[in-house]
Amino acid sequence: MAGLSCAEALVEAGYTVCSFDKGRGPGGRMSTRRAETSLGELRWDHGAQFFTARNEGFQRRVAQWVENGAAAEWVGRVVDVDTRGTVTPSRQDKRYVGTPGMNGVIRDMAGRLDVTWGARVERLSRANGLWSLSFEGGSDEGPFDAVVVATPAEQAVDLMKAVAFNFADRAGSAVSAPCWAVMLAFDKPLESGWDAARFEDGPISWAARNSSKPARGGAETWVLHASPTWSRSHLEDEKEAVEKMLATAFLSATLAPAPAYAAAHRWRFAQVETAPAGVSPWDPKVKIGVCGDWTIGPRVEAAWRSGRVLAGAIASEVG
Ligand SMILES: Cc1cc2nc3c(=O)[nH]c(=O)nc-3n(C[C@H](O)[C@H](O)[C@H](O)COP(=O)(O)OP(=O)(O)OC[C@H]3O[C@@H](n4cnc5c(N)ncnc54)[C@H](O)[C@@H]3O)c2cc1C
Repeated sequence: MAGLSCAEALVEAGYTVCSFDKGRGPGGRMSTRRAETSLGELRWDHGAQFFTARNEGFQRRVAQWVENGAAAEWVGRVVDVDTRGTVTPSRQDKRYVGTPGMNGVIRDMAGRLDVTWGARVERLSRANGLWSLSFEGGSDEGPFDAVVVATPAEQAVDLMKAVAFNFADRAGSAVSAPCWAVMLAFDKPLESGWDAARFEDGPISWAARNSSKPARGGAETWVLHASPTWSRSHLEDEKEAVEKMLATAFLSATLAPAPAYAAAHRWRFAQVETAPAGVSPWDPKVKIGVCGDWTIGPRVEAAWRSGRVLAGAIASEVG
């Protein structure tokens, strides 16, 4: 989101931008996971669950996605469950999701830009005032006038420590929480009484009926997210063990029958907990910049804004 938001704004300002992403397709932490199951091919939003739009610029961008069919409002019944098990309706702004999966938004943005997928950048180098990128597998791209790193903080450190110590140092002070996600499918709808719940206590912090989101299709699918504390203490556990522990906790809380499908995914850097204050995103001397949710806050909207802020800084200083 951050990288494409920056690229969009730079292209609007007249720059030529090439983007490279190690992912096999559009998504990042707004990915949609597919699986063949006994109920057919199913999909889950296993990372970001929804996004809100508080900033006016982002509200306008969300309205365009909605108009293009890349996003829609999610009107699921969301509740909060406190430590005593008391259930209350959650009060929140409008919630939006990508359609037909969370990555619909990223796909829509990338479709209008020059993006190469499956391209893991291993090294940035600068010679004669120009940048080159070296990729896993041995290929190179460049020269480029300027480079932007739009990865989670921990991965930005690796890319920047040899070429932009100040940025690497700032990124190094960010701390992201991991998150174990479990994707479930059931033969029939669960009678939970809600479509998503935030739990104050226990191993699961969030459970959502994925299939209650718009354009998701018929099968009953759910996503569970473990709390940061639980995810940290089980970070190196086997996927199968995590899937069993979290599914069992969910089934006993909701009295749901055994799922027809279950799988786990580990997000090692899910949501930034400590964002370094006041990161100036652009170094005009060496023409390198950073964006990403970690420069503002742990949300889709913050990632989008970080890309626009960086593009503004580049456009005003590069000219
Ligand atoms: C489990 C979970 C739940 C969440 N829930 C919500 C929520 O409900 N609401 C909300 O607003 N936000 C939520 N978030 C946070 C939200 O997903 C992020 O804030 C946002 O998507 C971050 O966007 P980004 O562009 O900064 O980073 P990313 O989406 O992580 O994008 C970074 C990109 O960099 C690529 N990359 C990394 N290293 C390299 C490399 N060396 N070479 C090439 N490419 C590389 C990655 O493939 C990735 O596509 C959640 C996140 C997770 C994981």
